[in-house]
Amino acid sequence: MAVITKSFSVKTKGDTDIKNITPQVGDALKEAGLSNGILTVFVPGSTAGITTTEYEPGLLKDLPALFERLIPKGDDYHHNLTWGDGNGYAHLRAALIKSFFTVPFVKGELILGTWQQIILIDFDNRRRQREIVVQIIGE
Ligand code: ZN
Repeated sequence: MAVITKSFSVKTKGDTDIKNITPQVGDALKEAGLSNGILTVFVPGSTAGITTTEYEPGLLKDLPALFERLIPKGDDYHHNLTWGDGNGYAHLRAALIKSFFTVPFVKGELILGTWQQIILIDFDNRRRQREIVVQIIGE
């Protein structure tokens, strides 16, 4: 049993920018050289999250529209009064989808559905560079 930690960085435009990070996660798994186990993808930070979807143009519009309905960017949030950084909506959206995604792997391959990609969503109200951590536990 081994624990191997990898990372890679992703530049985002913020404002609910959705990035497909499946290829980088797959590369991290290959570099680790483990065959069977479980892998966690984690984004440090409280205004971005990681989840899964089919990465296609329709959903790339539907997902931001959903977040806008649930947690409108222009509403008043207590957080904005605390810091004046105007990204209260971003923290709430990130809390909803959480900061990690876990997936098993077998024979060196991620067990994802055909149309299931791992995505980073950056909700912050400015451009960011995110350091994504991939921790792999297996043999
Ligand atoms: Zn904030």
